[in-house]
Amino acid sequence: MRAAGQPVIDFSIAISHLPAPQPVRDAVRAALGDDTTLPYTSVVGAHDIRASVCAKLARENGIDAHIDEVIVTNGAKQALYEAMYALTDPGERVIVFRPHWPAYVATSQLLGLDIDLVDLPDELTAGFMAALAPARLIILNNPHNPTGKVFTRRELEHVRDWAEACGAAVIVDESYELMCFGGEHVSLARLCDWRKLGVVTIFSTSQSYAMMGWRVGFAVAPASVIDAMQVLQGPVTAAAPALSQLAMQAALAGGTMDGMLDDYRARRDLAVAMFATRPWIVMAPPDSGPYLWGDIRALTVDTVSFAEALFDQAGVAIMPGDALGVAGFIRLGYISDNVATLVDGIERILAFGDAYGQGMR
Ligand code: PMP
Repeated sequence: MRAAGQPVIDFSIAISHLPAPQPVRDAVRAALGDDTTLPYTSVVGAHDIRASVCAKLARENGIDAHIDEVIVTNGAKQALYEAMYALTDPGERVIVFRPHWPAYVATSQLLGLDIDLVDLPDELTAGFMAALAPARLIILNNPHNPTGKVFTRRELEHVRDWAEACGAAVIVDESYELMCFGGEHVSLARLCDWRKLGVVTIFSTSQSYAMMGWRVGFAVAPASVIDAMQVLQGPVTAAAPALSQLAMQAALAGGTMDGMLDDYRARRDLAVAMFATRPWIVMAPPDSGPYLWGDIRALTVDTVSFAEALFDQAGVAIMPGDALGVAGFIRLGYISDNVATLVDGIERILAFGDAYGQGMR
């Protein structure tokens, strides 16, 4: 529709309206001198970039990793695929909490895994974990897309204890680690012997530093897992682009992004207040992340039809909860474009939802 010149407001994903941090842009400009060459780096990433990653992990995550335990990837997605490939064999069971980022299920399907979709409870308790069937792998997304849940230390300890008891490996996707409005983000790896347990922790610059298109992230895992990951990465993409690796190094050195959380928090609060005027949607302010997760079961559980009609009739794209494993909910990315567009899009959803409700009576 957009390509045909029609005005579409896209809340279906979350692309930051902010540019990459200034130090990142400066570093890239400085690197692009007239005689710049950008050779291949080693598949796992340039040595000094991995050293910066180790320093960041020690400083911010309490993870004490050696340089051989780190790999730089073309975004979190590549790290996820490689880690799952390295840790599993076809037919093995993987636990994915739902709602879930679609890539967890898509990657499991690509690898022929037996996917156990488990409804994410409000609180992960020891009893809840003990009731899960043993699995080869459990995937945790902390902070969580789409609900914004930030797992507590206690909850992470229950996951750890369960994995230890049943011998499951753990992948923790911490791509939203710097987007917490409340609650403390804790890396599960700091709470356990991650080498022994087989924990892979994945990070990305996409959301934490508004660097989606730069395609760069990294993972920390036992050296044997990193080795297996690079055996796969070598023939497929080789290293992440040298320029993006440099950019990531500058981002990590800069720490958190100035003003990003305040900007997102103001948008989040504005959006939540607008939705609070309607009885047909329940939308709590998320504790983290760039998404709103709205319960519209009072209106319909067929959120695919709702999303299609909203797009056709009001020109607003959202993600139906079905795509994330849970019908009756909708996900909205609220950090793109300007605030006026955010307000316009929400007003269109409100008007559309009001009429949808009338039509059902
Ligand atoms: N993990 C999750 C759960 C995400 O939602 C996203 C962004 N959509 C990412 C990771 C980022 O992936 P990448 O680094 O490949 O852009």
